[in-house]
Amino acid sequence: MKTIGLIGGMSWQSTIPYYQVINEYVARHLGGLHSARLILWNMDFEAIASLQRENRWDEAGQVMADAAMKLQQAGADAIVICTNTMHKLVPSMQPHLQVPILHIADATAMAIQRAGLRKVALLGTRFTMEDSFYVSHLREHYDLDVIVPDPAARQLVHDVIFNELCVGVEKASSRAQYREIMAALVQQGAEGIIFGCTEIPMLVDQSDASVPVFDTTTLHASYAAEWALS
Ligand code: GLU
Repeated sequence: MKTIGLIGGMSWQSTIPYYQVINEYVARHLGGLHSARLILWNMDFEAIASLQRENRWDEAGQVMADAAMKLQQAGADAIVICTNTMHKLVPSMQPHLQVPILHIADATAMAIQRAGLRKVALLGTRFTMEDSFYVSHLREHYDLDVIVPDPAARQLVHDVIFNELCVGVEKASSRAQYREIMAALVQQGAEGIIFGCTEIPMLVDQSDASVPVFDTTTLHASYAAEWALS
């Protein structure tokens, strides 16, 4: 079994399911008392979120590369970044590493392809929905047609993530708003919805949408566990 290096804490709430899903996968596949070999580097998310807000992505890239190098030095055979947003920095991190970064968009896109879908909607932080790094990864590597909510809905989705979910608050009113946003995306032809933020599954699940949903947290963690056992 290979050792997984998790960069977590962004937010810590969404790192918990990574730990659980990876260990459950290993236990299920190896049986007995088996559990995962993993190392967790937990970020102080306030510091990271400030860099995001202030558009200081170069500095954020250095902090992320430093964490990944420490995990590699500690014995990680691959790095798993437990947030969609920070995959924006993969191009500046990977050159510092000899081990691979297991990309969350690869795990997600492969699940969408397995489901036989092509046109999908993406929910996430404004960085994930509006910067090109995520959408173009899905388009260029997997030929997916990706749509995002309108600007007002994007702002709402983003604010709920940072002001509520990242501090452990789950509001029924926000769930209702997310349901409306997802319904509008289905009206626009979305055949599936990507929960492209690792906190979103805290708020909504398959029962909140009329098309298949893709929970990037579970997909990414399962992909990492499968890789570790391969
Ligand atoms: N966990 C969220 C994500 O998957 C947002 C946190 C962040 O900005 O890194 O994108």
